Amino acid sequence: MKPIDFGDKPVEKNAPSADEVKYTTCYMCACRCGIKVHLKDGGIRYIEGNRNHPVNKGVLCAKGSAGIMQHYSPARLQKPLLRVGERGSGEFKEIEWDEALATAAGWLGRIRQSDPRKLAFFTGRDQSQALTGWWASQFGTPNYAAHGGFCSVNMAAAGLYTIGGSFWEFGEPDWHNTKYLLMFGVAEDHDSNPIKIGLGHLKTKGTAKFVSVNPIRTGYSAIADEWLGIRPGTDGLFVLALIHELLRAGKIDEAYLARYTNAPWLVIADEGAADHGLFARDAEGRALVVDDTTGAPVDARDPAIVPRLAGAVTLTDGRRAVPAFQLLAAHCLSPRYAPERAAAETGIDAAVIKRIAAESTSCRCCSAASIRPAGSATSRRFRGRSRPG
Ligand code: SF4
Repeated sequence: MKPIDFGDKPVEKNAPSADEVKYTTCYMCACRCGIKVHLKDGGIRYIEGNRNHPVNKGVLCAKGSAGIMQHYSPARLQKPLLRVGERGSGEFKEIEWDEALATAAGWLGRIRQSDPRKLAFFTGRDQSQALTGWWASQFGTPNYAAHGGFCSVNMAAAGLYTIGGSFWEFGEPDWHNTKYLLMFGVAEDHDSNPIKIGLGHLKTKGTAKFVSVNPIRTGYSAIADEWLGIRPGTDGLFVLALIHELLRAGKIDEAYLARYTNAPWLVIADEGAADHGLFARDAEGRALVVDDTTGAPVDARDPAIVPRLAGAVTLTDGRRAVPAFQLLAAHCLSPRYAPERAAAETGIDAAVIKRIAAESTSCRCCSAASIRPAGSATSRRFRGRSRPG
């Protein structure tokens, strides 16, 4: 292409829109996309995605761009509000910070003098949970929590256990090697950019199947290879039916469970006792498992042992204990979770539940061993290794 000849005429450029760029992460949702915040005269002019950030690689969603309104929205609270009407009436008046702090200190002071544990301190999703948690512990209450404990952190823990990663700062799924992605009822505002990028990768690659379990077919579900329009609130039952089917078919990766999860941890079985159902621990508080080689309860973290997934044991203090996996299996193998029974409540055909269970294991070399007590073929299979994995 021939270059444009401007001759001697000076080229008019746009005036710089910013005089400074700050690098940070977006927190309009939990994804923590990398962003560049352009500042002019100390104020935010606009926000753009950071191409060098590993989470979003420059992608910025509309909500992320709107982060500017966190600072400049006219609807933003400017001062503390004091309720002046009946609870629920929506009547408030603005007060100064001194008054707000004195009011709060009055309430909290009385609680702290009587018993600080009476304070249950709950915060929403924000970036300051280290500070709010520290404040609660200084106040003297162990009863503090934040939004994440009821939402994203559970998802993150499950993700780390099942797919080896999760989202946000907990890493992410192995999109490159994914062959089957089963997604449950994700809120579309969560993990927007990273999951969009990941799904785009799967769709482009064309070698993975993406199944979405969601009552509605919008957002991510709209591009799923298979959408399961489940009845709202029955996802858990659907999962239990999948586990039932996998257990029944013997498609359980026992080596993985023994190596990477707390499935072999012993649970105290002492009906009526205060510690019934709690994990059995040694005097130092370490969780116990049964070593398949010796049959003795040992520290679960010992890398040299081969933990059992099934078989009750008597602890040194005489209490009976059972591996957690055995309890889970006994629960999930109940006829209540048979696909035929779950179909009526979830609205998903029993044949589909069975097919999804089969598909989800057909793409990897699952062990075909069902649960067997110590001394069985399963145990012998473990015995041949120094460490399952
Ligand atoms: S997905 Fe959007 S809102 Fe969420 S962190 Fe990334 S840019 Fe911000």
